[in-house]
Amino acid sequence: MVQKGKIGVTTDNIFPIIKKFLYSDQEIFLREIVSNAVDATQKIKTLSDRGEFKGELGELSVRVTLNKEQKTVTISDRGIGMTAEEVDKYINQIALSSANEFLDKYKDDANAIIGHFGLGFYSSFMVSNRVEIISKSYKKDEPAVKWTCDGSPEFTMQETEKDERGTDIVLHIDDEYKEFLEKERIESLLVKYCKFLPVPIIFGKKQDWKEGKLIDTEEDNIINDVNPLWRQKPAGLKDEDYIKFYRDLYPMSFNEEPMFWIHLNVDYPFNLTGILYFPKIKNNLDLQRNKIQLYSNQVYVTDSVEGIVPEFLTLLHGVIDSPDIPLNVSRSYLQGDNNVKKISSHITKKVADKLEELFKKERTQFQEKWDSLKLFIEYGMLTDDKFYDRAAKFSLLKNTEGEYFTFEEYKTLVSGSQTDKNGDIINLYCSNKQEQYSHIEAAKEKGYDVLLMDGQLDVHWVGLLEQKLEKTRFVRVDSDIIDHIIQKEDIKEIVLSDKQKETLTHTIKAQLPAIEKTEFTVDFKALGESSRPVQIVQNEFSRRMKEMAAMQQQMAFYGELPDTYQV
Ligand code: ADP
Ligand code: MG
Repeated sequence: MVQKGKIGVTTDNIFPIIKKFLYSDQEIFLREIVSNAVDATQKIKTLSDRGEFKGELGELSVRVTLNKEQKTVTISDRGIGMTAEEVDKYINQIALSSANEFLDKYKDDANAIIGHFGLGFYSSFMVSNRVEIISKSYKKDEPAVKWTCDGSPEFTMQETEKDERGTDIVLHIDDEYKEFLEKERIESLLVKYCKFLPVPIIFGKKQDWKEGKLIDTEEDNIINDVNPLWRQKPAGLKDEDYIKFYRDLYPMSFNEEPMFWIHLNVDYPFNLTGILYFPKIKNNLDLQRNKIQLYSNQVYVTDSVEGIVPEFLTLLHGVIDSPDIPLNVSRSYLQGDNNVKKISSHITKKVADKLEELFKKERTQFQEKWDSLKLFIEYGMLTDDKFYDRAAKFSLLKNTEGEYFTFEEYKTLVSGSQTDKNGDIINLYCSNKQEQYSHIEAAKEKGYDVLLMDGQLDVHWVGLLEQKLEKTRFVRVDSDIIDHIIQKEDIKEIVLSDKQKETLTHTIKAQLPAIEKTEFTVDFKALGESSRPVQIVQNEFSRRMKEMAAMQQQMAFYGELPDTYQV
């Protein structure tokens, strides 16, 4: 006999799971409760805008207060409040959110709402042994309601006295979490998660020094900037505004100014705002990562965006804000989320657009910035095919004279003079101007051009360019004998016996202990050809493989390059 049935899910079994496992981080309880208060405030504004609420709005702010004796943190708002019926619907029934209903009803002119899932409120039980809701709805003649719950599935609900519209959420902090009764801790959490919320968040009074003591002033301590720069229209903003905002975001960056920035402002097919700054990227990728802050409707989500935006974009700084970025979920969920993927490829496109625009409109400035941009662009080209296709148009090659060329321009420059017997173009490069000085000079004497490839990723980039550019090879000036590669008819060869060659090789190796670790050959073919009697060369291929392997080990610290570039 087949038995069919339905698995019963009751709050009795789901509640502890929510409390324990939904959030990896206890501290987000404050973000959740404050963002509910902000939502309630936005809702009353929307109702008032539409004439559905005709009363006084009053001062619309959210207050967070700490009471150490009573061990409580209270979050109070003057939002729409809840009737007893609404508490029963939205609080007692787990996972029911009013956010979607509200947005459906007021799609066109609703102020942005943060809530989604109807689970945020319960995060308060992670740190509290009792939570009270005291709420009075904006609806006329509805009595205020008080709801209490100690974290078990039982709650009590009763009428209460409350004059003003709005909600107080009282969290009775568990002894285990008494850190959340410290002023500094709460303030730092508010700064972290709520710094750009759209409704003023007040936490105590501003402090000032008086007679050597820090005392409270009359002025409210407002935590947040309700209208952050990225939410403003780019047309009205000046360079100074962007630079000031950068300093606000990264107070520790001292005098480092960003080179330029992109103001993201998309309505369709998803909503995305933000500002991405291009920092001067130095030869230390590690230090510069994870400076992008991710927001959802001005609520801070995370600053570790790896896996959420393409690897190379984690080198940028700034803010990305999208209501389509889910708030309450794990990283692995974020990574698989379709909206997040769309957002990420949109950003890649915008970054490429910006670089192309700079290159086209202000080539000189673009060249000046190239050295600081190069690592970022190379990284992007190596790890993102689409970005490669875009960047191949504005990427520059710099030669040892300090001149810059696009790939096309460089091809035109050397295709007449630097080809091998198959007609492949040979791009000569050096990786260290001092060490390879004599080889560079020798190449120049012969009328060749030498590129400077001394960046952290250049060995990989050169490999990539060989794959992508047609009939083009890169050869370091001290690799093999360039005259053997670049076809020249008048190579003179000095004839030596095997014995003579052996003796000479032996002598030279003995003189050069420093390079004995690397394989090298002493090339006799060029003897007598130039002013240099003998050349010591390393094979391009084996040298490069070694460099790439070494680089790969280093790269393990800051992310992976795709397999194709691994040795
Ligand atoms: P979400 O915010 O995702 O909707 P929550 O669990 O955070 O889910 O909250 C559930 C519901 O409780 C909200 O949708 C809202 O209707 C109601 N609510 C919570 N806090 C408040 C508040 N301060 N004022 C009014 N309603 C609130
Ligand atoms: Mg919520």
